[in-house]
Amino acid sequence: MAEQHYARIAAEDGPDGKGINSFLALSRERAMAQAAKIDALAAKGDALPPLAGVPVGIKDVLTMTGSPATAGSKILQGYRPPYDATAVTRLEAAGAVLLGKLNCDEFAMGSSNENSAYGVVRNPRALDRVPGGSSGGSAAAVAAGFAVATLGTDTGGSIRQPAAFCGVVGVLPTYGRVSRFGLIAFASSLDRVGPFATNVRDAATLLGVLAGKDEKDATCSDRPVGDYVGALAKPVKGLRIGVPAEYFGEGLDAEIRAAIERTLDGLRAAGCEVKPIALPHTKYAIPTYYVVATAEASANLSRFDGVRFGLRAAAGSAGAQTLTAMFRETRDQGFGAEVKRRILLGTYVLSAGYYDAYYRKAQQVRTLLTRDFLTAFAEVDAIVAPVTPTPAFKLGEKTDDPVQMYLEDICTVAASLAGICGISVPCGETKAGLPIGVQIMGRHFDEETMLRVALAIEDSSQL
Ligand code: GLN
Repeated sequence: MAEQHYARIAAEDGPDGKGINSFLALSRERAMAQAAKIDALAAKGDALPPLAGVPVGIKDVLTMTGSPATAGSKILQGYRPPYDATAVTRLEAAGAVLLGKLNCDEFAMGSSNENSAYGVVRNPRALDRVPGGSSGGSAAAVAAGFAVATLGTDTGGSIRQPAAFCGVVGVLPTYGRVSRFGLIAFASSLDRVGPFATNVRDAATLLGVLAGKDEKDATCSDRPVGDYVGALAKPVKGLRIGVPAEYFGEGLDAEIRAAIERTLDGLRAAGCEVKPIALPHTKYAIPTYYVVATAEASANLSRFDGVRFGLRAAAGSAGAQTLTAMFRETRDQGFGAEVKRRILLGTYVLSAGYYDAYYRKAQQVRTLLTRDFLTAFAEVDAIVAPVTPTPAFKLGEKTDDPVQMYLEDICTVAASLAGICGISVPCGETKAGLPIGVQIMGRHFDEETMLRVALAIEDSSQL
């Protein structure tokens, strides 16, 4: 299986401007050693671990020894991490074969994978379109059949949105459910690691392997891990499904609206009670997210200074005569435009004169957004909404307008700010054949209910 997947990658994933460009590095040696180990286990007739021999890919913001870790940035060129991320360790311990590292937006900042220093990723379902971002490589690799499953990260939508654009399943676990040890941080109060797969059952299996306490990550919860695959056997009859009007506003594409309405009909037919709910602070989610996320990014990215990791501006070059000049020159050469924009914005909202007006205010609004969800979840068991306002857009269509690009995140950032779990599941396609995803949001640490609803949707849409 590993060989077959590598052959497919070699044939279709070229970075030549025509290929999909999802993998940035292949870890053939490590993959083949693991595959041989699993073959030997199988030959002996031993019981096999849950992901035995399953070929997976890893977003290049997670560390994996033996492979580079670039985070899609030039500033990490040449960096070789000395340890494995916990998520990587757990997949491998469960038998997975790690194929390599996947392209993404630089430091996971973006919604289209056009911010990678290593070239854009193409959407396997329409090669002239974006795969979504920032985990564009992770979603595209699953959609193209280069890997059976992949890991991505979601800070404001980066698993759910590319899953929707590429027609695969993507899970945002509850904040704290999956360890982030070995994740190159973007915004620490928002970043989460989660799986992509072609179907809900596979995604549930991966989540079960990834979830749970980790001594190496103090933000990782010690709550017991649910039986996610077992939960799928429970019918959804009687579940209360909330539909927030705020997510169905003017900007929503008509075909997406229709597909979600059909999905809701399917849930009614399966015995769910579908009812309207209010999430009144939704309109503040985007500005709140872009204050909090940029503030945290400006702090996290200060460590890339040319001393500790990767790129260093050449000593003695015109711009790097002194230590401070070396820092400045390295950061100038190493970071792309979007990352610089966010460092500037984040530094601004945290500065003495503006802290109260922007950062503190954003934190207060974040609490209101969280309360909206807690109030809603007193009355419903899961919330169903769109993932994106439009299907996958054309490469280059939004790159000149950062605000238009930020608005892409309108349906995903509120769940990120609130820390609740979410999933994107395919629920149809447009007349032009572009995939449409639907989002299910669940209570904190109630991945089971969210996954049950997701499975019911998958079953009823029969894609
Ligand atoms: N598109 C959002 C951003 O650019 C979300 C990115 C993410 O979830 N990593 O910040």
